[in-house]
Formats: sequence, C-alpha cells, structure tokens
Amino acid sequence: MHVGLLKETAVRERRVALVPDSVARLIKAGDSVTVERGAGAAAWFADEAYLAAGAILGDARDAAAADIVCKVQRPTDAELSAFTRPTVLIALVGRDPAATPETLAARGVTLLALERVPRSTRAQAMDVLSSQATVAGYKAALMGASSLPRFLPMLTTAAGSLTPAKALILGAGVAGLQAIATSRRLGAVVTGFDVRAAAAEEVLSLGAKFLAPEAIAADAATAGGYAKELADDQQQRVLAAIGGAMAQADLVISTAAIPGKAAPRLITRAMVETMKPGSVIVDVSAETGGNCELTQPGETVVHHGVTIVGPLNLPSTMSMHASQMFSRNVQTLVDLLRKDGKVVLDMNDDIVKVMCLNPPQTGNAQ
Ligand code: NAD
Repeated sequence: MHVGLLKETAVRERRVALVPDSVARLIKAGDSVTVERGAGAAAWFADEAYLAAGAILGDARDAAAADIVCKVQRPTDAELSAFTRPTVLIALVGRDPAATPETLAARGVTLLALERVPRSTRAQAMDVLSSQATVAGYKAALMGASSLPRFLPMLTTAAGSLTPAKALILGAGVAGLQAIATSRRLGAVVTGFDVRAAAAEEVLSLGAKFLAPEAIAADAATAGGYAKELADDQQQRVLAAIGGAMAQADLVISTAAIPGKAAPRLITRAMVETMKPGSVIVDVSAETGGNCELTQPGETVVHHGVTIVGPLNLPSTMSMHASQMFSRNVQTLVDLLRKDGKVVLDMNDDIVKVMCLNPPQTGNAQ
C-alpha cells in the first residue's frame, strides 16, 4: 500500500498524523510512505527523521496520491483539490459541516472519521478521542496550576505552613480522570463529579473524593457508556450539588461533554460569583461552547476575581506526545485496512463500518 501524510494547515494545529516511528513500522509491514515536506515540523519531527525512517518527501499532491492519506484535521474543500485519484482519507472531521460526502465523493475520497471510532476493546488502540483526551486532561491540570496564585500541595516551610489547594473536577471521562490524577500528583486535594455511576467508581479508585453520589442519574449513560442530556429536574440536582462545592474550590477543571451536542452548562455566573478571589476555572469544554456560562473560547477572562481559562485544542499544545499517541492510533487503523498488501474497506467490520463517512458504492474492496 502507498500511504500519504499531509501537513496540517489549520490555525492552532501543531500535531501530525504519523510520526517517523509509525512510518518505519508501516514500511516494515510492506507499505511505501510519502510525506508532505514539513508535515511534522510543528510537532518537532524533522523531514530528515521521516527520510531516515524510509519515507519519500514530496508536496501535498504527491502525498494525496497515495492509497491511504493520513491527516489530523480533514482537508478543507480547497485542500481537497490536491486529491487526484481515489483514496481513503483518515482524519478527524470536526464539527464543521464542510467536506460533505458529495464533495468527497466527487474527488473519489472515502473518509474514515476518527471521531467515530467505536469505544470498544478491539478499537481501543485506534481511539484518538481517548489518547487526545488524556493529553487535554493533563494539560488542563498544568494550566490550572500555573494560573493559580497559590501552590497546589501543602507546604511546611520556615516561612510558614501553606494549606493544599482544593481542586474540583467536573466530568470524569478520559480527560477528567487524567486531570484528577495529575492534580493529585501535584498535591491538590481533589474531588470529582460525573453523572455516570461508573465514573464515580473510577474517581474513587484514583484516591479522589466523589461529590454528591445522590446527583448521579441512574439512566445517565447510553449503551455505549456516554452521557446523555439530562432531564430538567436531574439537571437542577446536578447544579445544586456543584454549586455548593464551587465556593470551596480553588481550582475547577470542567470536562463534561455529550457527544455531538453542545457542552452541558454546569457553572453559572452566580456560581462563579460565590468563588474565592484568585480561584481558577479551566474549561476544557470551551471548544463545544463551555461548561461555564462565562467561558470565552480561546480566551482567559477574569470575572469577580475568578480567572476563567477557555483553552482550544489542548492536545496541540503538547504536539510531540499528542502526535506520538495519535500516530499510533492511525497506524493501527492503517494496519487494520491492509489485506495482502492492499487497502480493503470491509464494510462488515464493525470498526470500518462505523468510521466510514461515505462508503464506496461499489462493494467491499477498493
Ligand atoms: P466525553 O468526553 O464524552 O464526556 C466527558 C465526561 O462528561 C463523561 O464522563 C460524561 O459522563 C460527563 N458528563 C456529561 N454530562 C455531564 C453532566 N451534566 N455533569 C457531569 N458530567 C457530565 O467522555 P469520554 O471521556 O469520551 O468517555 C465516555 C465513555 O466512554 C466513558 O464511559 C469511558 O469510560 C468510555 N470509554 C471507553 C473506551 C473503550 O472501551 N475503548 C475508551 C474511552 C472511553
């Protein structure tokens, strides 16, 4: 198979979909790889490293002429002009409605959307949502720590004793659990919250407290383990539980999300106004509108003495390791598509079937 790697062009996107180590593994498996020049530069992977791994360097058209083309963010409609022959594209589709199935089909591009990877044991190694959420949760805890005007750990020094910071983590999925683990490692006293019962057990297993077990909704999770939108009365119970804890917290990291929907609103203006001056909210859900009603996506604002950070594309801020993890996910997916050295889109495979945005009309193989 011929695999192509395209460079990212979106603002704030520093990741690359395949790192040299994955390129070497693909070549070992019998593939050839064409890398667009400079593709890995923003993640600190130089062209020379790709050459050393056995890749060929080229321009976007050369890389897009492959059987499988890998990218982090799907190409814009304009960038699709680089695609001159039928290909399978592996990328995140994002929330932007551009690159409709028709536009892709006109270019002969079959898109495997990385956000659609099933949350199953078999697909775990291809799950970019998990790998990138791990990065986001870690970085959110660091941002919180560096935005606070105080230490996270308890300190006993000749200059006096300092109490540990109290951190409240809202949403205990992959990002939230990583934020809990990281802020605990930094010495904070951590409390977590989620509406799913399974998440409560995970919070406790990390040594954090769980806020308000009574606010867990028995029917909060879908069969796939994701949260659902809450009924009004349940939402009120959640807000009441969180509201009481906000006034005590020095650091709040909110990661609550519902797939395909705007982020649930968990932090109201009134709650922010109960917080202590100097406290910090890091709203990891800023990208989908924010869990806090005062979050400005991509900005840091101060309201009533509370710093509210609304970061966008956190994984990209740790481009090297985020790319390394993303790349291993993509490489595993490429391995899944290789059958006797050829690309086969098996629409009976539960991973391929779910991820394929626009299945080819002509049967299983291409
Ligand atoms: P996500 O990013 O969709 O959501 C983040 C968290 O926000 C979730 O834990 C969700 O329950 C929570 N949330 C939603 N509404 C809330 C509200 N009103 N108040 C408080 N919290 C709220 O979640 P995710 O990190 O992608 O994980 C979703 C599920 O998928 C989890 O059950 C996770 O364990 C599971 N998962 C499975 C696999 C696998 O089996 N391969 C891999 C990753 C994740």
